[in-house]
Amino acid sequence: MTIPLPIPPCANRDGLSGLSCERFEYASTMATTLLAPVKTERQILEHSMSEDDPNANTQLPSEVGEQPRWGPRHRGAQELAELYSPGKRLQEWVCVVVCCTLCACAGFLMARYIHADASLLLAAIAGVLTADFASGVVHWAADTWGAVDLPIIGKNFIRPFREHHIDPTSITRHDFVETNGDNFAITIPVLARIVWQLLMYDVFTIQEQFHWIAYWYLCCIFVAMTNQIHKWSHTYFGLPAWVVWLQEWHVVLPRRHHRIHHVAPHETYFCITTGWLNWPLEKLHFWSTLEMIIEALTGCKPRADDMKWAQKRS
Ligand SMILES: [Zn+2]
Ligand SMILES: [Zn+2]
Repeated sequence: MTIPLPIPPCANRDGLSGLSCERFEYASTMATTLLAPVKTERQILEHSMSEDDPNANTQLPSEVGEQPRWGPRHRGAQELAELYSPGKRLQEWVCVVVCCTLCACAGFLMARYIHADASLLLAAIAGVLTADFASGVVHWAADTWGAVDLPIIGKNFIRPFREHHIDPTSITRHDFVETNGDNFAITIPVLARIVWQLLMYDVFTIQEQFHWIAYWYLCCIFVAMTNQIHKWSHTYFGLPAWVVWLQEWHVVLPRRHHRIHHVAPHETYFCITTGWLNWPLEKLHFWSTLEMIIEALTGCKPRADDMKWAQKRS
């Protein structure tokens, strides 16, 4: 009986030289790595909340029992929701009003300089990419480092990120002010500078620098819209048809795409404006490399506080 011998992967065969075969193997390994899903369907099902299943038909009885892993009945999520204070609400209201006023003023002052040309399209694309990257950096920093018990920033700015991981659909129950207040706040200094430039510079200087002004203005618009887009990515019922269309064509963050971030332990896919940068940043190991460097320098464990809240199930 002849036993079939395995062909060595880099044997000379079919006229391929050893070198080209090695290249072929390298290329196919690269392709396999690049095409491999970031999270498998099984990981998504087992380690993230089934937001598209409000009756929990796809969850095991143990998952929906006395100590749910996710959702509004999670003890940690309830505790975090109770920390939303009237002071925080006031700050959000002020930021929404100031941001909208500055946005309207800047838009009005810019109107006479706008020409629909390639530089405006370039400013829009660069603006959206910057906003997507900025959303990833802020989201990664708040998810990975710090703690709810830190003074001022803990309760006001880190708390919503912790709550969002253990009760991802809580965002769909937040109103416009709670959803968008913090993102609107980030844009205020930049919008204030744009308004100041448009009021103080002469016409020639504004025309000369208009592509930069347009870039920063559009970037602010996309940053301000980011958490609304994020909220839509958690809304599985009753979304307007035009939003679903934008999600399906990946103009804004799609629902299935964002589900990858919500697979515990929430260590990837942090960009939430369009999510265009998620795949390349993951393949470049961008976030994990940053975490390794910070952990080596400070000794802090990434997501230690996030884990602590996830475990507060009773
Ligand atoms: Zn997150
Ligand atoms: Zn989310």
